[in-house]
Amino acid sequence: MGQRPTVAVIGAGFSGLLTALHLAADPDGPTVRLIERAKAFGRGAAYSTGNPDHLLNVRVANMSAYPDDPEHFTRWLAGHEGWSSHGGFVTRGVYGDYLQDLLREALETTAAGRLLLEQDEAVDVQRSGEGWRVRLALGREIEAAAVVLALGVLRPAPPAAASEALLASPRYIGDPWDPKAKLDEEAADVLLLGTGLTMIDAAVSLWRPGRRFWAISRRGLTPRQHAPTSEHGLEVAPEGSPRQVLAAVRAASADGQWREAIDSLRPHVQSIWLGWSQAQRQSFLRHLRPWWDVHRHRLAPSVARRIGLMMRGRELVVRAGEVTGLTLTRDNVEVAWRPRGSGMTRRLGVSAVVNCAGLLGDLERATEPLLQRLLARGHIRPDPCRLGADVDIGSRLIGAGGRPEPGLFAVGPLTRGAFWEITSVPDIRSQAAGAAQAILSSVRRAHAA
Ligand SMILES: Cc1cc2nc3c(=O)[nH]c(=O)nc-3n(C[C@H](O)[C@H](O)[C@H](O)COP(=O)(O)OP(=O)(O)OC[C@H]3O[C@@H](n4cnc5c(N)ncnc54)[C@H](O)[C@@H]3O)c2cc1C
Repeated sequence: MGQRPTVAVIGAGFSGLLTALHLAADPDGPTVRLIERAKAFGRGAAYSTGNPDHLLNVRVANMSAYPDDPEHFTRWLAGHEGWSSHGGFVTRGVYGDYLQDLLREALETTAAGRLLLEQDEAVDVQRSGEGWRVRLALGREIEAAAVVLALGVLRPAPPAAASEALLASPRYIGDPWDPKAKLDEEAADVLLLGTGLTMIDAAVSLWRPGRRFWAISRRGLTPRQHAPTSEHGLEVAPEGSPRQVLAAVRAASADGQWREAIDSLRPHVQSIWLGWSQAQRQSFLRHLRPWWDVHRHRLAPSVARRIGLMMRGRELVVRAGEVTGLTLTRDNVEVAWRPRGSGMTRRLGVSAVVNCAGLLGDLERATEPLLQRLLARGHIRPDPCRLGADVDIGSRLIGAGGRPEPGLFAVGPLTRGAFWEITSVPDIRSQAAGAAQAILSSVRRAHAA
């Protein structure tokens, strides 16, 4: 047998790690080079935190890394100490430990040299013969038969309302998950742009006695909380237009069982999305998405209680409206904002601004050099809804010409345009397993040829 082909997986968060593990688990599989620019492999943005207040927002029972072994994570927990359950939820740091353990185990059991960790940033991917060449920031190059982009969520673009001076000052935090981002301890009033899960995370992490957070988004909707659900799940008819699906969920929620209704819809979300026309997807994104997001992405009860207390004590004030100006003054930041449904502009002085706007979807606004280069060469293109990169049902990236680029794949939130519900573990674990099979077939075909 000739030399094994190489697959380069860029990004070692949950998506890249699981894809790499599936590839490495095949004894006849390729050599896998897992490229990660952060120090820790396997944790990614979500599970790098050591903050004990940062809990998973999905119950442990649904967090197995393997779709065909749903008890895998709960078994791992049972075999480990040093964690505690908060009503069925554990810290995100503990989940990161689990993922690192999976990686450690694979490194110990996979035949030597078949799973290689490369700590560096991938800055370019170019065609090279029948395969691809990945260039790393330190100047090294990796030749690969296939490349997987598992880059996670794209950081939000800076708010249009912000002055250049503010964006360049320490009073603006553009990436709330950046471990180096620090607020001045003295900062009293802080503006959080956005009212979703990222805002909740920032409010919990940045809380200090005497500090007040102002959280503003267009609708001012905040995530709902998890609660025990009935054992007898509901069956919601998963068909039809966004309007019909909404009507079915509303009907099923009539007895207050909205959590059961949403949960029963979840396994069907991808097929519903795939069945919708482009116009229907756009209509969902315009009118229903904010509601879907707050009901679907829920808070662990203890986090919800904490946030409730902060809101009652006016340590967290949530408002619906549009921020129209953010100007750096001598002593603070002046915020101009218009409450929803009002023509009047209000003003607010804050010590700092944190961008909690969530995920950026539009590839053309991405600041990642790797994505900018792939886009410029036409190897990737934005999906029609501008949620990420266009992929086909097999997670193969579609180039500017409208055809899949041979040997180029993407896994995780970058593929939201095709699958919509592909940001959390229960969805990504299935995609990673499926994509690994498609990658194995692709490299075998190329190798045989
Ligand atoms: C704060 C937070 C909390 C969450 N909580 C939950 C939860 O409780 N349950 C749940 O199911 N989901 C949760 N999620 C969703 C989460 O997105 C997924 O569970 C999953 O972690 C996504 O993994 P990923 O690998 O796609 O992305 P990421 O975790 O973002 O990993 C991408 C990795 O790629 C690396 N990278 C990017 N570009 C390059 C490059 N050019 N070169 C080298 N490396 C690169 C990054 O450094 C990063 O480590 C949460 C997300 C966030 C942000």
